[in-house]
Amino acid sequence: MSYDNQNVFAKILRGEIPTNKIYEDSYVIAFPDIHPKAATHVLVVPKNAYVDFNDLMENASAEEIKGIFAAVKKVAAQLDVIDAGYRLVMNVGVGAGQEVPHLHVHILSNKESA
Ligand code: AMP
Repeated sequence: MSYDNQNVFAKILRGEIPTNKIYEDSYVIAFPDIHPKAATHVLVVPKNAYVDFNDLMENASAEEIKGIFAAVKKVAAQLDVIDAGYRLVMNVGVGAGQEVPHLHVHILSNKESA
């Protein structure tokens, strides 16, 4: 999959499509999934243009990879789902069901977020 800068998350990152941003730092933004599949369902989206996890691991610095996953943990803490438990999902490739070709981590929890 090649990077298409017309994908919906690229448009959200450029401010062309509105979203309810719940977290932002220098590496990522996070916002609720528009079609939630759990009581809490938030997407953490890196600011840089990686198609998927493979692209990230092949092209990002160790510092950026750490920054992205540290942000995922911070968002989970902000949502107050650490104690209840949560799932992290990254669909990698069309064959795995990846719909949006811009890397994102799904945070899902059966606990409604704070
Ligand atoms: P994936 O199948 O892993 O690529 O997941 C893409 C996710 O993006 C799906 O769960 C969609 O519901 C979600 N999604 C698509 N458009 C938007 C949007 N504008 N705002 C929030 N979530 C979205």
